[in-house]
Amino acid sequence: VSFAAGVTVMGVDGDDTLWHCQDEFDAAEEHLGELLSDLVDASTVQGLMRETETRNLPVYGYGVRSFTLSAVELALSLDAPTATVQRILALGRELLASPVRPVPGAAEAVASMREHHRLVLVTKGDLLHQQRKLRDSGLRELFSHVEIVGEKHPEAYAELLGFLGLRPEEFLMVGDSERSDILPVLEVGAWAVHVPHARPWWNEVVTDRPAPHPRRRDVAALGELVGLLSP
Ligand SMILES: [Mg+2]
Repeated sequence: VSFAAGVTVMGVDGDDTLWHCQDEFDAAEEHLGELLSDLVDASTVQGLMRETETRNLPVYGYGVRSFTLSAVELALSLDAPTATVQRILALGRELLASPVRPVPGAAEAVASMREHHRLVLVTKGDLLHQQRKLRDSGLRELFSHVEIVGEKHPEAYAELLGFLGLRPEEFLMVGDSERSDILPVLEVGAWAVHVPHARPWWNEVVTDRPAPHPRRRDVAALGELVGLLSP
C-alpha cells in the first residue's frame, strides 16, 4: 500500500504553512524590546516575555491578542509609562492588520491537493485574525471546512475526525509544527506530512529528533506533497 493511499480528507495548517507568521512575531518581540529598553535590556525582555506567555497561554490561547496582553502585563510589571502601554497596544493592532503574505507556491500546491481530496483548514490563534488571513489569501473557496481550535492536541484531532465522520486512516494533516501538526495526528492514527519552518516559535520547538514513522513524511516545501501523493 502506498503512502496515504486511503486518505480522502487533508487537513492543512495556516500559519507558516500557507502564509508567513512567525517572522512578524519575532519582529514584534524585537520592537517590544526597544519599547522597554529604558527599563530593562532586550535579552531580559525576551526571557520575561517567555515566562509571561507560558503562564498566559492556557488562559488566553494563541495569537496576537494573547501576545499583546502578555506584553502589556510585562510592561506594567516593569512600571512602564502609559505611553509605552499605548504603543504596545498599537503594535498589536498593527500585527492584526498586517497584510497576509502567502508562502510561495502554497496556492498552487493547495489547488493540486484539492483535485483529489477534500481540504480542511486546521489552525489555531485569534478567530477573526485567522478568518481574515484565510479570506485575504484567496484560498477560502478551496477548503470544505475551517476548524479554528484552541489547542492542537490529540483530543482536538479526534473530535475533528468524529465531526467529519472519518476513520483516522482517511485523514492526513500537513503543517510546519512538529508539536501541533504532526505528533498529535500520528497519535490518533492518521497520516502526517511535515513541512518544517526555518525558525519556529520557541513554544513549538520539539527538542527530540523525531523518530521515523510509517504514516509520516517530511518534505522541504508544500509543493513536494503533490508528488508524494500521486499514485
Ligand atoms: Mg503553523
